[in-house]
Amino acid sequence: MQLLLAKKVAIVTGGASGIGRATVELFTQQGANVVIADIDSHQGQALAAELGDATVFKKTDVADPEQVKALVDFAIDHFGGLDIMFNNAGISGAVHYSFLEDDLADFHKVIDVNLFGVMTGCQHAGRYMAKQGSGSIINTSSIAGLKPGLPLISYRAAKAGVIHFTKSIARELGEYNVRVNCIAPGHIPAAQTFYDMAEMTSRMQPLQRQGRPHDVANAALYLASELSAQVTGLVLPVDGGSNLGGPLEKRQK
Ligand code: NAD
Repeated sequence: MQLLLAKKVAIVTGGASGIGRATVELFTQQGANVVIADIDSHQGQALAAELGDATVFKKTDVADPEQVKALVDFAIDHFGGLDIMFNNAGISGAVHYSFLEDDLADFHKVIDVNLFGVMTGCQHAGRYMAKQGSGSIINTSSIAGLKPGLPLISYRAAKAGVIHFTKSIARELGEYNVRVNCIAPGHIPAAQTFYDMAEMTSRMQPLQRQGRPHDVANAALYLASELSAQVTGLVLPVDGGSNLGGPLEKRQK
């Protein structure tokens, strides 16, 4: 059977851990060459060593546009092109349960990584892909970008921004046969999810199964591959239905 990403070149930012790591593993299983981009050199290099020549680690802080440009140039130089850009790196920010009492000290950092980093990733990859006449860009938003509420107000603002930004540039890049979509994960165990997942799943998710990084990687594979050739500007929640609201209350007998 033909592999879904045979001969494709991908960049996965935040590729050293969690959702990014699961995606790097799945993309390479499906035949892609993958640049693992992360600020965490230790985990990034270890993953590249584990997966072999189909991967390479490039230390990158996505909050720095020069480093993002260097990352895209590196992928093209090292693997001879770029077909898939997964702008996935993200941080959660400070936990405050009152906006009125929030000092918003995390705002600039959260926006720089979660929104500006996605924008520059799209721009540098998009410039190359537009000339090439093909490509798939995937951005990581969150159910926090779909659902209003607290805590993590800076994070919610950034992730909502990713959704609107993704739809906006999907309109421009369509002309060049470059697709731009985003994934909105919810309640996936990873380094930055610090809360009680079991409690959250039972209270917030219609589907009672626990989501895992590979569930999000499967969505990324769909959006990266030709299976989604007619899909652009999509926001794909991978959240067990959390964006709909929690499970319905059971009727009293
Ligand atoms: P994670 O913390 O396991 O992975 C995030 C990775 O991003 C880490 O390897 C980290 O080193 C890297 N990173 C952080 N800042 C960076 C920067 N400036 N430049 C480059 N790399 C950087 O968490 P995860 O859950 O796998 O997060 C992946 C994405 O999924 C993030 O955008 C996150 O906001 C989003 N997300 C996660 C969940 C969830 O439940 N886990 C839900 C919604 C959205």
